[in-house]
Amino acid sequence: MPARIPDPALFPKDAIQEAYNAILSENAGAALQYSVSEGYKPLRQWLVGHMASLGVECTIDNIIITTGSQQALDYLGKLFISPGDTILTTWPTYLGALQAFNAYEPRYDRLTPEGGNTTPAAYMQSAEKAGGQVKLAYLTADFSNPTGETIGRSERAKLIELAHELDIPLIEDAAYRSLRFNGENAPSMLALDIEREGEIDKTRVIYSGSFSKTLTPGLRVGWVCAAKPIISKLVLIKQAADLHSPTINQMVIHHVAKRHFDQQVSKACDSYRLRRDHMLQALQNYMPEGVTWTKPEGGMFVWMTLPEHMDGADLLAKSIKEIQVAFVPGSAFFADGSGKNTIRLNYSLPNAEAIDTGMARLGTLIKNQLAV
Ligand code: PMP
Repeated sequence: MPARIPDPALFPKDAIQEAYNAILSENAGAALQYSVSEGYKPLRQWLVGHMASLGVECTIDNIIITTGSQQALDYLGKLFISPGDTILTTWPTYLGALQAFNAYEPRYDRLTPEGGNTTPAAYMQSAEKAGGQVKLAYLTADFSNPTGETIGRSERAKLIELAHELDIPLIEDAAYRSLRFNGENAPSMLALDIEREGEIDKTRVIYSGSFSKTLTPGLRVGWVCAAKPIISKLVLIKQAADLHSPTINQMVIHHVAKRHFDQQVSKACDSYRLRRDHMLQALQNYMPEGVTWTKPEGGMFVWMTLPEHMDGADLLAKSIKEIQVAFVPGSAFFADGSGKNTIRLNYSLPNAEAIDTGMARLGTLIKNQLAV
């Protein structure tokens, strides 16, 4: 089933309609034509400005447009992973990243945002024992899917240090980066790596961005910002895979982003902030003792930890049947299948009333399960 996570009521439908009309009446030849694999130049230029607002100094040669950021994960897996190689990632991590990388037959080792638990040498030894090498690290630093949590500045610096010590690229999945409702932004990991190295072309961090959570997922436009040698390789992979992302969609995203990006982001943040508040309040009201959850400052998810002996998948089966409340069992997000007593809740789609009713019912179901 396709994910239906952003609220469609927030999609800038009129602006998109206006953009298609303007582009088709003024520039149909280019919009409907093949175009370059790097992506639509004015959009890459706009992204240079966007990245500068995150503290990332770059040029258009540091940017490739992809068909959603999901495509970037596939291409990066293709670029770096041979069967048996090791990918470092958090426990839990984005399920779609595991799915994209799994095609290249990696093994996974646990990346701890707190840092310091495992040394570079220990990571390398276990990778070699398993018949490969540590080739890649992947994480969502801001409002992760599934936990909603953000990694702090000093942990980011430690993780960058680790990537340099291991001499591996580190993917910073920034799909939710713009959706901060409160609190202070931590610097982008790519910005921190540029600070460390003096220039983007010496960095290890690969920033993976997306318009899916800010404008619309349906046009499938994302981007990668990284050192030029990495972008050049991704361009070759893209040329071979699909030539380029749809020209007209890139032009439409550029047209809309240029005029409405900031306003759109603040509209989305206002709407999701309210729902996040309702969700946290409802959890506070209805969840029994022994259940804990994250308190995200942005994004779309709350991560719940159930008492040790409870199983998220069993709870989902009962929940669907008895109370019609859906969530995702947490173990799907663990590379080793652990985390059975966790679940991912999403507040970006239901309204306040549905959140309240749903959490009240879920709280009762969990209480009843605990009493069994
Ligand atoms: N990364 C994360 C963390 C996500 O949650 C998603 C969408 N669910 C993606 C990447 C992919 O998004 P898209 O391809 O629409 O940019």
